[in-house]
Amino acid sequence: MTKAELEAYRRQLLALRDRLTKDVNHLTDEALGKGGIGSDNLSHMPIHMADLGSDNFEQENTLSLLRNEEERLQEIDDALERIERGTFGRCEECNQLIPKARLKEIPYARCCVSCARKLEQGLRP
Ligand SMILES: [Zn+2]
Repeated sequence: MTKAELEAYRRQLLALRDRLTKDVNHLTDEALGKGGIGSDNLSHMPIHMADLGSDNFEQENTLSLLRNEEERLQEIDDALERIERGTFGRCEECNQLIPKARLKEIPYARCCVSCARKLEQGLRP
């Protein structure tokens, strides 16, 4: 992979990380219920049991979303580290080059498609 290509992936990863960090901050606020405070819709705060119920459900959703996004942020950080180390773009399992089409779609992919599939199935490649 050329330096220019690596730089392009690095920029893509940084932009993605930036966006995800903002999402995570927003979701954290939401999960903590900070959303409406300080705004002018305080009078619409839920007080009925039914509303509280759906609120909890939404909070659950927000929390699982948050966990996913945090995992993805970790993947991105790891990918940036691989760029620094010069191992970016190689499958961590079989050491083959990861196809560019895959990296374009998932720039933080750590395995080639066939290894990723095997790992998903819980098998060692
Ligand atoms: Zn592989």
